[in-house]
Amino acid sequence: MKKEFKAEAKKVMDLMINSIYTNKEIFLRELISNGSDAIDKLYYMDLKSDNPTNKDNYYIELIPNENERTLTIRDTGIGMNEEDLVDNLGTIAKSGTEAFRESVKSSDLNELIGQFGVGFYSAFMVADRIVVETKKFGEDKAYKWESENAEGFEISESKKATPGTDITLYLKESGEDFDYDQFIDQYRLRELVNRYSNYIRYPIKMLVTKTRVAEDSTEDDPKYEDYKDYDVLNSDKPIWKKDKKDLSDEDYENFYMESRYGFDKPLSWIHFNVEGLVNVRGLIYIPQKAPFDYYSKDYKKGLELYSHGVKIMEKSEDIVDDAYSFVKGVVESDDIKLNISRETLQQDRQVMLIAKQVNKKIKTHLEGLLKNDRDKYETFFKEFGNNIKASIYESYGSKKEDLQDLLLFYSLREDKLISLKEYKDNMKSTNTEILYAVGDSIDKIKSTPALAMVEEGRDVLLLDQRIDEFLIKMLRDYKDLAFKSINQDDSEEKEENEETEVKGLIDFIKENTPDDVVDVKLSDKIKDLPSMIKQRGDVSIEMEKTLKGQVSPVRIKADKVLEINKSSKAYELLTKAYEDDQEKAKEITSLLYDQARLIEGLDIEDPVQFTKNIWKLI
Ligand code: ADP
Ligand code: MG
Repeated sequence: MKKEFKAEAKKVMDLMINSIYTNKEIFLRELISNGSDAIDKLYYMDLKSDNPTNKDNYYIELIPNENERTLTIRDTGIGMNEEDLVDNLGTIAKSGTEAFRESVKSSDLNELIGQFGVGFYSAFMVADRIVVETKKFGEDKAYKWESENAEGFEISESKKATPGTDITLYLKESGEDFDYDQFIDQYRLRELVNRYSNYIRYPIKMLVTKTRVAEDSTEDDPKYEDYKDYDVLNSDKPIWKKDKKDLSDEDYENFYMESRYGFDKPLSWIHFNVEGLVNVRGLIYIPQKAPFDYYSKDYKKGLELYSHGVKIMEKSEDIVDDAYSFVKGVVESDDIKLNISRETLQQDRQVMLIAKQVNKKIKTHLEGLLKNDRDKYETFFKEFGNNIKASIYESYGSKKEDLQDLLLFYSLREDKLISLKEYKDNMKSTNTEILYAVGDSIDKIKSTPALAMVEEGRDVLLLDQRIDEFLIKMLRDYKDLAFKSINQDDSEEKEENEETEVKGLIDFIKENTPDDVVDVKLSDKIKDLPSMIKQRGDVSIEMEKTLKGQVSPVRIKADKVLEINKSSKAYELLTKAYEDDQEKAKEITSLLYDQARLIEGLDIEDPVQFTKNIWKLI
């Protein structure tokens, strides 16, 4: 029975078949890791069953065949039935997203394979015919799936007797552009396993040809003979159990790729071993880049969790704090019971102790980067900083003490990212506030009029991320220094309002501006502009803008203080008109208010009237 591939699968396969990708060899990593996944699945079932399979029966085998020019990858895993074959090898499970389409377009194969689980199809980079023979554990029938040049696939019955899967690749013809015969060469295969699949948890076996001294060999007449023997190609010890000094950066990077934690090189890693109330070792990575779905609700945090050499959970979310949801890696502790269930795991005391250690390690590591490898830390922070901010915010501040020193903000004076501690260390001891300004981009904030009114030499943090202002409100202070917006009106300095001779005018302006203008002041601190708006109270102007974009039954507005530049021409005109021509005074008031709104990036109620007013006055 011939079947068509689903459209997206077809697209990916065409990409693979025609690929001139230079790392075609990664197909081996993909097929081996599928084999390993399949064994894992069987292993899980086994853990819960009464008569577990003998552990030695789990393996992956590479079978190169020179005569047929084929390479078979065999695993003793869960296997597939007919339905599985159609579902898993004929469609793409995690597709449908915009990111997927983008990746297909840019044909960055490595990324495509990694993010969308299309590893199986990578075999079409090296083979023009693929035969899968498989038998699902616990079922009677075995099946054969085959596909030539991705022209659909066929499924028939097979005689395979034992559970597991054999995938046979009929290698493409070698040519000037590429040597496909390397994939039947035992030395090359060993090399590829060592590079890409060294820490797969199950033995990867291969029958290899070796040479030994022949039985009839004598000292005078030395004779050698070839013989065949199974070798295990991969490391017998998981990487996290090895000694740091026996591992190179490349080993760590390869394990990261091998485990498909990410497809770039990792930014940094933590290899640790703690002994104490709980014994735990692990290898935790900080990725270079956030996965495409990181800031979506589909993303799931977690680390692989092992006990007694057995993976008991693929993604244990209980052992990593939300603040560090970006980490990837593995943790092993023999203090956890093997048959623990997902539900009890959450409340398990040992697990809580492990989580504590893990989070502490991550935090210390990040602090170390901040201190000793600033560039790396900034790379990290630009990618994942918003997650740390969100975590503080969502904890209603309870994580503040723990995380605030990991934050970076843009400094006006330094023209780069700085920490709160650096802000504090660099300011005059007489200052008691951390000043900040909020806006859409650093450039826009730099042109905020209120910045010109900041006392000479004082630094201001420029906050350009949406979450920043909410975060700052949550933080309130940093080591006794209160955060203060440069747009915040200081209600204490009310001297202007005491000047009784202008009280009439002030009241007039109040009457002729909207209700959210709660106060009007005359100022001699404004430079170059006739007027500006400051905020009073808890809702800021930036928040008003943010909230405006959201559907909400009530419009939330910042309380505004309109400040008018005492020495401006506009003020002079206003005072005059207030005496002689109240209609004109109204127009000027309206202009002063509207232009102050525009400067803050707020819209104005009636742009037509605004324009008319300008021309009338000119
Ligand atoms: P991914 O591994 O990311 O899911 P793949 O394209 O590599 O994507 O594999 C697709 C699916 O095919 C797997 O999820 C699995 O269900 C099935 N599969 C592939 N290889 C095997 C195998 N050796 N044994 C059992 N199932 C397999
Ligand atoms: Mg896979």
